Amino acid sequence: MKAGAIIVAAGSGKRMGRQKQFLPLRGRPVVEWTLDTFLSVANVEELVLVLTPDDIAEHGERLKSDRVRIVAGGETRMESLKNGLAALSADVDIVAVHDGARPLVTPEVIRACLEEAEESGAAVPAVPVKDTLKKVTNKQMWVSGTPERSSFWLAQTPQTYRRELLEEALVKFPKEKAATDESQLVERAGHKVKIVPSTYENIKITTPEDLAIAGAFMDRRLGTTPGESRAGLGFDIHRLVAGRELWLAGIRLEHKKGLLGHSDGDVVLHSACDAVLGACGLGEIGQMFPPEDASIKGIASKEIVKKVLARVRAKGARLLHLDVSLVAEEPKLKPHYPELSDSLEKLFSLPEGRVSLKAKSHEGLGEIGRGEAIACYAVATVCLP
Ligand code: MG
Repeated sequence: MKAGAIIVAAGSGKRMGRQKQFLPLRGRPVVEWTLDTFLSVANVEELVLVLTPDDIAEHGERLKSDRVRIVAGGETRMESLKNGLAALSADVDIVAVHDGARPLVTPEVIRACLEEAEESGAAVPAVPVKDTLKKVTNKQMWVSGTPERSSFWLAQTPQTYRRELLEEALVKFPKEKAATDESQLVERAGHKVKIVPSTYENIKITTPEDLAIAGAFMDRRLGTTPGESRAGLGFDIHRLVAGRELWLAGIRLEHKKGLLGHSDGDVVLHSACDAVLGACGLGEIGQMFPPEDASIKGIASKEIVKKVLARVRAKGARLLHLDVSLVAEEPKLKPHYPELSDSLEKLFSLPEGRVSLKAKSHEGLGEIGRGEAIACYAVATVCLP
């Protein structure tokens, strides 16, 4: 059996005022935590992330990988799901459907759902109801009954199915708008659905208070204390010469000269990477990519950033903020602040407002002042486990 997962994150976020899947949870967008957990389960061979077209434009490039495909969602959840299904390879026969706004799902719950779906066809993770239920069917708010609590379970995701059951249900009820999960369509199509006991941590982030609760769970999981942070300082300088492209913060700027180096010479990315590594106690990029290593000749500095972030994540640390100061006589960088900051946010997976970037001239003094070099300072703040 080959398993795939569809992470649906194309909702409009009506109750949160903005896309809940991209709200920052302990410094990272909610949906990235979700994606990481699925990526940690080796049995999930293919992942499809369903996003809005706007989010694809903004985040798609960063989130896609060999195992992750990105597709656009539809008007309704069921349409988004159909788009997701269509993007899975034909030989995927077990499909886990997950809410992008459930970042606290565990690998154990994902594995249990895959196993149960393989065994019985359809699996829904759920937890027993803790509170007493009251039934109210009138506007005056009179209680019309107290159902037996022990027979009720709260459904979560990843709801996991043998592919043909899910496809059959979507074909049988093509216009279904009211269904709040896929399981009810599979049930209505006449198939049995099995509950897989899950964890109360696997909450869905729907309202602002959910984000605070999710943060507390995430701290416990990462072993971090909120507010425990460290700063790191990075510095870099490269010669500015004719005949080279000018790359700063991962953006190519039009200029008559560019920065010399065996990579693309991007002083912003180099100093930012050193700041991040410094804050995590992980050394510096010169140790990770020695200049004598021929394999890195001409390497795009964006690749260096990816490797640095992988090491930061492996340590359980997370980047909270980057502050960057360029020192350059030319070109004039102020007009480029928005695109340079945006690029840094994306490359370092930081939510909006977590990067500040500015540039100073060197008042005509020394080699930077003569336009022979560009330097950059960066300070990174990270939260360590
Ligand atoms: Mg450098």
